[in-house]
Amino acid sequence: MGNVAFAARALCQGLEIPYVMPEKNNKGTLVTGAYYSPEEICLPFKIMMGNFLECIERGADTILFVGSCGPCRFGEYSELMMKILRKMEHDIDFIVFDMSPEIGIGEIRRRLGKVLERSPVSLARKLSAVKKAMKIQYLCDRLDRAAYLKAGYEARKGGCKRLLNEYKARLYECQSPEEALNILKLYVKKLASIEIDKSKKPIKIAIIGEIYTVIEPFSNLNIEEKLMDYGVSSERMLTPSWWVKDTALKPLKLNSLRVSRAAAKYLPYPVGGHCKECVGEAYLAGKKAMDGAIQILPMGCMPEIIAKSILPTIQKDTNLPVLTLIVDEVTGEAGFITRVEAFLDMLSSRRKKPDMAS
Ligand code: SF4
Repeated sequence: MGNVAFAARALCQGLEIPYVMPEKNNKGTLVTGAYYSPEEICLPFKIMMGNFLECIERGADTILFVGSCGPCRFGEYSELMMKILRKMEHDIDFIVFDMSPEIGIGEIRRRLGKVLERSPVSLARKLSAVKKAMKIQYLCDRLDRAAYLKAGYEARKGGCKRLLNEYKARLYECQSPEEALNILKLYVKKLASIEIDKSKKPIKIAIIGEIYTVIEPFSNLNIEEKLMDYGVSSERMLTPSWWVKDTALKPLKLNSLRVSRAAAKYLPYPVGGHCKECVGEAYLAGKKAMDGAIQILPMGCMPEIIAKSILPTIQKDTNLPVLTLIVDEVTGEAGFITRVEAFLDMLSSRRKKPDMAS
């Protein structure tokens, strides 16, 4: 999922646990995953199944997975995945890290122990490996965020996108957490040195929606890079680092307070997935007077369908135009681009004719 593979690999390297680095998601991954998945399951499931099968073919014998008790389909992902892999006669150790109180802290510890016992390094080195992996994740997210935002202001078009692709290609090949950290630090500096034109007033878009499809570029047809090509600045709150922080603060009920408060008026109850975040982010984007928001969701995603039904009210209350894009394995790129371009045209027109904005 997006840049998570870089941090996960650094963790395995630091723990000295052999790993298989998945291929970058591609059409083949999706076709394989979709073939072995239930037809009506959401897109992230199909891509992940494709990842698992490709990695098993290359020698993986264990899958670590983050679970959830629901209430959306994600609560069923791990069970269903295990069943499919068993049916295909793959002898795989499937370890799920579930936050469900029903499993209990003892069981979570047992599962964690099962992973850590395979690592020959000392406790101090284990802790250092976790720290470095988290730092890598944080720096990747920071770089992406800065590049997507700065793209609208760059004096010479294309610099941010070039650096973004360059750092990812170098990270994909790197051999140790230390090397990854050095690359990331270098690119943080390179990105900061990109010249900007302060007179530019780019269109600003908030990317909101289902967490997997907003983070994984293959699943959203690389929307953030496409916006960079159009000279648009985009912002996205949902990142892997955000998820780690949110998950850690959840038991204390201190997670995502600002966005929860913003969503409370429209959605007083949790309905699963990141529906609350989507609603809250849209409201905050409207209040910040951003030009628009693009909601991305997989076909049939239950929480995001609820968010979609609330967004018109937010649109009315805050005057924020919202474009909803639904993705699945048959989404065609041409139609997708046409809708994005038409939306951007409409946003530019609103700027030129302020009466359209009311
Ligand atoms: S949030 Fe949506 S896409 Fe993600 S697992 Fe739940 S239903 Fe599927």
